[in-house]
Amino acid sequence: MATRFEIGSITVHRIIEQEAALFDALQFFPTLTRELIDENRGWLQPRFIDPAGKVMLCVQSYLLETPHHHILIDTCVGNHKQRPARPFWHLMNSDRYERSLAAAGFGVDDIDFVMCTHLHVDHVGWNTRLENGRWVPTFPKARYVFADRELEFWTRRQKDNPEACPWVEDSVLPIVAADRAEIVTSAHVLNDLVTLIPTPGHTIDHYSVHVGRPGADAVVTGDMIHSPLQARYPEIGMMTDYDSQQAARSRRTLFERFCEAPTLMCTAHFPSPSVGRFVRRKEAFDFVEA
Ligand SMILES: [Zn+2]
Repeated sequence: MATRFEIGSITVHRIIEQEAALFDALQFFPTLTRELIDENRGWLQPRFIDPAGKVMLCVQSYLLETPHHHILIDTCVGNHKQRPARPFWHLMNSDRYERSLAAAGFGVDDIDFVMCTHLHVDHVGWNTRLENGRWVPTFPKARYVFADRELEFWTRRQKDNPEACPWVEDSVLPIVAADRAEIVTSAHVLNDLVTLIPTPGHTIDHYSVHVGRPGADAVVTGDMIHSPLQARYPEIGMMTDYDSQQAARSRRTLFERFCEAPTLMCTAHFPSPSVGRFVRRKEAFDFVEA
């Protein structure tokens, strides 16, 4: 699966910002054990967990070129942002993202909608860019689609404890201030080709995006899953989950719904090619790359 593929009348582009081993697996998945890693080492290593025990992650956007709109889903980490808690994302200054966008044939003026599946640091970064010392919308013509309870949660969190979530101040609130936010429910229907699916748990009002028509469709999952390990073991939570039990239910519900369909699942963070299907395996699911 390349960085560009077709689903019916829709062209999907993967816009990659970074691909690396970033987090220790046992920290990233707090209930994961060495024994379980050992049991699954044959398929997990080195592809999904590197030899040093770090989770291999891709950080990317999905750009959907539909007959009506250009929709950018999740906007990675971004440049020039203060992220002292995450050294590998702190004050990034890379042209990879913009080059990747240009290579797909797009400029910042070409995006009609930016959708943030949730408001975590690695999904909102390119919402804004620095211009004369101010954070301005990177995509000036876009409406930015935020889930209502998600925005409410992070706006409050930012107010109560700004140091805990600096990305809200530099990458979310400037969009609201510029009147570019489109605040919707996490089950919002954009049109007959694009519908949001609530997949709460990783965050309070996380959504995934269903695109296309039966037989030629895809789901951009966002962070309702971070590794194929969570398909085999849906109950394994991730360290920044809002509610890991709810996240596990969201995984089981979504995979149950699509596991017998040809629907392509476009994951946010699985290593490239990142796209495939979740098929039934025993009491859970297996990820099969496309
Ligand atoms: Zn993420």
